[in-house]
Amino acid sequence: MDDRKLVSTGCFGSTLRERLPRVRERIAAAAELSGRDASAVRVVTVTKGHPPGAIGAAVAAGLLDLGENRVEELEEKVRLAGDLPVRWHMIGHVQRRKAGRAARLAALVHSVDSLRLAERLSRSGEADARRIPVLVQVNASGEATKGGFPAASALDGIGEVAELRGLRVLGLMTMAPLTGDEAVLRGVFAKTRAVMEAAAGISGVEGRELSMGMSNDYGLAVEEGSTMVRLGTTLLGARP
Ligand SMILES: *Cc1c(COP(=O)(O)O)cnc(C)c1O
Repeated sequence: MDDRKLVSTGCFGSTLRERLPRVRERIAAAAELSGRDASAVRVVTVTKGHPPGAIGAAVAAGLLDLGENRVEELEEKVRLAGDLPVRWHMIGHVQRRKAGRAARLAALVHSVDSLRLAERLSRSGEADARRIPVLVQVNASGEATKGGFPAASALDGIGEVAELRGLRVLGLMTMAPLTGDEAVLRGVFAKTRAVMEAAAGISGVEGRELSMGMSNDYGLAVEEGSTMVRLGTTLLGARP
């Protein structure tokens, strides 16, 4: 079977047809609770770990924003997607030496977790005479296993990133801890939103996008102001 055929078939079509309406409803209800319309929240479908059939099925369902968390897999998926109208999102940690590759392929890099990575991405943007759209990752939970700028000092970091001429800082991204504790989750999302509100005054920060929420917490994230949810499992099923 050739690659294109893999992209256009697969078992994900029925999974998405069944699951997407429920996800849309949940987003709409949560957006309403935050005084917004469902159209204020974009779904990034996380295809990482799934075979290429997930790409074709997502596009067929109208989900054109797809997320990957490793540069190698992003490159492979971009190749497999061919000329499908996909906007690719880099959502995972990017090693500095791979920054140029991520910058060229991703419509948005969500995971700018250090000034040094930001500098590399910016250099790549300047070399291509463009500004790379990025989000600054905030570690709002304080967990040692999570990347990003600590919330307490994030404003300084965001200011430095925003000065780089090869980047456009569209907003912030965060990852919540793996917990069912609603208060903890809300706290992390609200803290990130507060950082963004404070950062919106920094020159060069466009401050529009808040990438928060994954399969097990996106309802709360949207209630707390998320504009982009990154959904894998709840849309496509468990990764093999
Ligand atoms: C894998 C991943 C997701 C999606 O996770 P699910 O729980 O499957 O929805 C979201 N964001 C990041 C950064 C990821 O690595």
